[in-house]
Amino acid sequence: MDRCRLCGQKEMATIVTNLGPDLHEEYSLRECKTCSFVTIAPLPDHQVLRRYYSRDYWHEENSHAAKHLNLLFALRMDGVVRELKRLIPANGRILDWDAGDGSFVRLLDKKGFSGYGIDRYSAACDEKKIFRSTIHNTPFASQYYDCITSFHILKHLKDPVGSVKSAFNLLKPGGIFVDEVPNIPSLQYKLFREKWQPLEIPLHVNHFNPKNLLFIFSVSNLPYSLDRGLLQARCDNKTMPEERRVSFSVFRENNMVIGQ
Ligand SMILES: [Zn+2]
Repeated sequence: MDRCRLCGQKEMATIVTNLGPDLHEEYSLRECKTCSFVTIAPLPDHQVLRRYYSRDYWHEENSHAAKHLNLLFALRMDGVVRELKRLIPANGRILDWDAGDGSFVRLLDKKGFSGYGIDRYSAACDEKKIFRSTIHNTPFASQYYDCITSFHILKHLKDPVGSVKSAFNLLKPGGIFVDEVPNIPSLQYKLFREKWQPLEIPLHVNHFNPKNLLFIFSVSNLPYSLDRGLLQARCDNKTMPEERRVSFSVFRENNMVIGQ
């Protein structure tokens, strides 16, 4: 009997089947009847995932497509960087969790922060700015970072709760956690169902709704409250010597989480 990897409850319902037949593998989507967290089944193992990541998950840096994608990326990140400048001191240390080709680390440096990254698979790992590491096993001391950014990483993780806890250990008291994941209760998913692009079978194993994100934060000892679409969490637990606040806002089809 499989259990929900978020809340641990036993009752899961299959909501979509026959995903990925063109991959010569077959997957389903299973939804937790308690918290509505959606997971793919079966979970692909490390070897399967490695095959897909090494294929063309990142584009060639100098390709025509890359130039357009880099421009879109800079535009999309502009608002995030502006918000970070408001919240983090100049030269503040920021860790980009799963840094990919290192684009955001480079952008952070250009904007006056000290950017670092970790990634398990990327060829950009140089062990100076970008380290080959999981969030559980980084070369950094605890409470080292002013901010951790995690763009579209939680959807890849078999243990999102344990991983977020490890990330919080790297944050200074009052540090900021920025997260973005696709929002499965979105209108796009209702319209496109198994053709919804963010399903990306089998790379994306988790599909969250906003309450799932709140659950992750609450079991990581960050109590929260909801106020007119802006979700706020406040923390004064024993493991963190200073108060920490987390605020969330939901942007269109994605959830953007900025925690302080
Ligand atoms: Zn659940």
